[in-house]
Amino acid sequence: MSSVCIVGTGLSGLICGMRLTKSGYTVHIVEEVTYPGGLLASAKIGNEYLERLPHHLRKTDHALLALVKEVGLSDKLEWFNSYWHGHASGRKIGYFASGFASLINMLIQDITDNGGKISYSCTVAELTKDPTTNTFKTTCVLSDSNRVSIESDYVIFTGSCRPFVNVCHGLPIEMNVRDQLMNVTYKPQISLLMVLKKQVSEVYYRSAKDSPFQKVINHSLCFGTRGYGGNVVYLVGECAISDPLWIEDEATIMKYYFTSFRKLYPTLRETDIKSWRLTKVRYARFDSFPEMDLSAPMENLFLCSSGLSKYATTDEPANRMESVVALANSIVAKIEFNEEKKRLEQDVSFVEKESIITPLVNEING
Ligand SMILES: Cc1cc2nc3c(=O)[nH]c(=O)nc-3n(C[C@H](O)[C@H](O)[C@H](O)COP(=O)(O)OP(=O)(O)OC[C@H]3O[C@@H](n4cnc5c(N)ncnc54)[C@H](O)[C@@H]3O)c2cc1C
Repeated sequence: MSSVCIVGTGLSGLICGMRLTKSGYTVHIVEEVTYPGGLLASAKIGNEYLERLPHHLRKTDHALLALVKEVGLSDKLEWFNSYWHGHASGRKIGYFASGFASLINMLIQDITDNGGKISYSCTVAELTKDPTTNTFKTTCVLSDSNRVSIESDYVIFTGSCRPFVNVCHGLPIEMNVRDQLMNVTYKPQISLLMVLKKQVSEVYYRSAKDSPFQKVINHSLCFGTRGYGGNVVYLVGECAISDPLWIEDEATIMKYYFTSFRKLYPTLRETDIKSWRLTKVRYARFDSFPEMDLSAPMENLFLCSSGLSKYATTDEPANRMESVVALANSIVAKIEFNEEKKRLEQDVSFVEKESIITPLVNEING
């Protein structure tokens, strides 16, 4: 069976890994940070694992809900009424009894149970292809600066489009394709997760136009305080990497965000904060889609990046997990199709050989 190297342990990398290991492929997933989940990664907050960035499911996330069912998590998914700033009615949104960490853990469990390998602190620096053996070589830099190379028949890169172009300069990918991928632009974000002593808002989602953050997401109002040790609120803001705020230390950014937050909720004091955590994301939201489907930029190489999900989903191609699941499913289907085609071609040539060689051998043997 063929081998696949997957770059990234975000939702898309883990879905591809789960499906391909189940089908018998030899799968090695490499991840540059020390933990899985990508944008959906969790951290320990109090006694619970909670997403570093705010996440929920929608009833219309059909591909995602099918995945949840497939990994056996449907009974851990609950639906809550949520009130949104500017919307009068409650909207049902979904969340897991043990957070999205349960989905990530379940996918990892399936991958390792089926023989897949995951390596952390392993940053892909270069992708090349040996034209004689037709295999890819994925060269990774480890945390001790040593390098390792992984050989595989297929590669699926799940990071963003620009970093992809940077690691595959040695591959024969058309200039026009490279240019289009470089033009998929992204908005960086800074997100502050706070555990507060009290509940501050009456709505799950509130926009905050004149603040350094644009969204206030009141996680605990909707999903409860669980084992967090208080009320969880996220402040999510866009911040260009050229903005001096981007390189400020975390405590300064936190103070800056909190001062603006107090303008929205003046009764709040700094002593109401029990703990906080800041997350900076360089490639948080893509801004544009390329004009054509570039998820297969060359034979046996796939780019499973949400910025390319437009062509894999009939859903509004927003920056959502739903479109990521659809794209991952479509890439796995393409690999399975390639392999089936290869098998059929081998079978046909075997049948052809049999029909020519066997009569000849019989004739020689008299
Ligand atoms: C603030 C915020 C809130 C969101 N909320 C929601 C929500 O409520 N509902 C929803 O549906 N969606 C939401 N999303 C979108 C959702 O998080 C993403 O669509 C999804 O997690 C993307 O998964 P992915 O695997 O495609 O990419 P990623 O999660 O970005 O994973 C890519 C992985 O590849 C790794 N990687 C990249 N380059 C390399 C390299 N060179 N070497 C090794 N590893 C590499 C990265 O470290 C990362 O782990 C939100 C996004 C943000 C930013």
